Amino acid sequence: MRPWEDNIRKVVPYVPGEQPKKKNMIKLNTNENPYPPAPGVEEAMKSLDTDRFRLYPDPAADVLVAALAERYGLEKNQVFVGVGSDDVLAMAFLTFFNSDKPVLFPDISYSFYSVWADLYRIPYERPALDEAFCIRKEDYYKENGGVIFPNPNAPTSLAMGLSDVEDIIAHNQDVVVIVDEAYIDFGGQSALPLLEKYENLLVVQTFSKSRSMAGMRIGYAMGNPALIKALNDVKYSFNSYTMNQTALCLGVEAVKDEVYFRETVGKIKATRERTKERLSALGFVYPEPSANFIFASRPGTDAKALFEALKEKDIYVRYFNVPRIDQYLRITIGTDEQMDKLFEFLKNYLNH
Ligand code: PMP
Repeated sequence: MRPWEDNIRKVVPYVPGEQPKKKNMIKLNTNENPYPPAPGVEEAMKSLDTDRFRLYPDPAADVLVAALAERYGLEKNQVFVGVGSDDVLAMAFLTFFNSDKPVLFPDISYSFYSVWADLYRIPYERPALDEAFCIRKEDYYKENGGVIFPNPNAPTSLAMGLSDVEDIIAHNQDVVVIVDEAYIDFGGQSALPLLEKYENLLVVQTFSKSRSMAGMRIGYAMGNPALIKALNDVKYSFNSYTMNQTALCLGVEAVKDEVYFRETVGKIKATRERTKERLSALGFVYPEPSANFIFASRPGTDAKALFEALKEKDIYVRYFNVPRIDQYLRITIGTDEQMDKLFEFLKNYLNH
């Protein structure tokens, strides 16, 4: 048999953080929310009409699109939904980055970007972050086939100011600029207000973090109607990108409860502040976090060894075996109780 194409054979798959199945573990490795989804989600789950399962779901996901449009003060034709923001982003790569020119995204950033680019044969360049792990906006002013970056960035947790984000969008009006706002509800300024001004902007967000719904796989994009239509045209050509009936219905419940949303995000931000202080007291350093995780390093302490020692105790954080960041751990903000256990361990470990 003739080998299949290089772009597929050579793809280095994105390896997400571990998803261990242990019962009493402390899971601070994949930036999930430690609090349950909004109470209305559980209620709706109990009264799901299973007879609806006989029927195909609405491919346009109208109920969820309408709920999101209302939440963000947009028209329905400015909102696109998909099976987690990963699929929304993958679809956006396929739809908009189909060019001979390189797509630009930062080196260090969300590692799925290069996977999609490889799969879809999209050339790319990765401008390095500066010394302080900041994105240098000028690196995105050269000719390109599109731009994508997370704000706040992952795994650094650093947010870029809105005027810098705008400068990147303004310098790239011939191509689509995607701002991946998976973590924006925890800090930083959303680019959403810029939608009125720039038709090349696509803002992508998720239910996985601030809405505690990672298991339901719900993501969405917001942009001008022409971009949204293009995404839908591509989406309707695949089955796997169609959201299932349950996710659609529960997603609507999650968007509705603004009070619970604010409350849980507020708790996570407060715990993040306490975690910063406790990390500093133990000699850790970290870029200023804006997301629901802290990217921390401790001079003189080997990050990989610490990661392994934590794992032994069923405390899972994220380690990246990647040059320049291999002495850092990405620690998701959990409940105060979970963080207490983490610090109990760290204190003992560092006294050795
Ligand atoms: N973007 C970034 C920057 C992320 O860290 C993640 C989560 N791993 C995603 C997108 C995808 O999230 P989801 O598919 O769960 O919406």
